[in-house]
Amino acid sequence: MKRYYFVVGYNHNDKPSEILFEDRSNVKMSYQGGEVCSMSRGYDTLDELKVKEKITDNPCCSCGGIVITNYTNGQVLRDKNLCFSCNFWDEKIEEQHKPNKFVINGAFYSDGGRSNKPNHCLGFGGAEFKIETFDGRIIETNNLWCASKISKYYIDKFPDNAKFCKVEKFLK
Ligand SMILES: [Zn+2]
Repeated sequence: MKRYYFVVGYNHNDKPSEILFEDRSNVKMSYQGGEVCSMSRGYDTLDELKVKEKITDNPCCSCGGIVITNYTNGQVLRDKNLCFSCNFWDEKIEEQHKPNKFVINGAFYSDGGRSNKPNHCLGFGGAEFKIETFDGRIIETNNLWCASKISKYYIDKFPDNAKFCKVEKFLK
């Protein structure tokens, strides 16, 4: 039976969020090789979906996708008229200039600082990274986190500011 679903594209990146009118079994999730990474519960009518999921009247200013405000930061999304994903990147625009944030090959990274915590608590499982920033700093860390590939709607606001260097030695 077809119902209305709100779906978010894989990795919030190349596919804006949208409303589908589909049979649940026809919606392919990312783990099934599809493009959908999250979806709402199904609704019988579009109006019910809009009310229950708190969808705004206007599409997202950046990607043109549906703006759903059923989140803890819903009011922010409503005020900026941005979808959850675009707001995520909008907030990163300022953040990218912090000394522990890096844009490398179009992806956003954050250094949590070298740590002795168990590997499973560290970014990339505690793997050793060496980064050279374009302003001449060298950062070596075992606690690097990736916020994923930058959205295509924001990539031109995030020029690369660093590169990876080969790591010669690994810490035990
Ligand atoms: Zn958007």
